[in-house]
Amino acid sequence: MTRYYHNIRCDHCGKFISKTADWYVNFGSYGDTKPPDEIFLCEKCLKKEIDYYRKVGRMPHHYIHANYEEDLAKELGFVIDENSPWGDWRKNE
Ligand SMILES: [Zn+2]
Repeated sequence: MTRYYHNIRCDHCGKFISKTADWYVNFGSYGDTKPPDEIFLCEKCLKKEIDYYRKVGRMPHHYIHANYEEDLAKELGFVIDENSPWGDWRKNE
């Protein structure tokens, strides 16, 4: 899925971007009155984030998964945990 926004900033580096490379939503905390906002990533920060998870060999923990997560999960051997109510990743063993 690709979504386009105008005048938004990358939430990691703060740069204005015309097109988001990817986005995800973090888990909210108890007591939040509304769900957390989407986290937008520019091309550069997206690459950095993927490199980071590749290096540590685990998957990010997001309420709404980013688009890159599916490919990364295949690469790192993770699958959706069917016992997790929010569809979190688990190591496929
Ligand atoms: Zn950025």
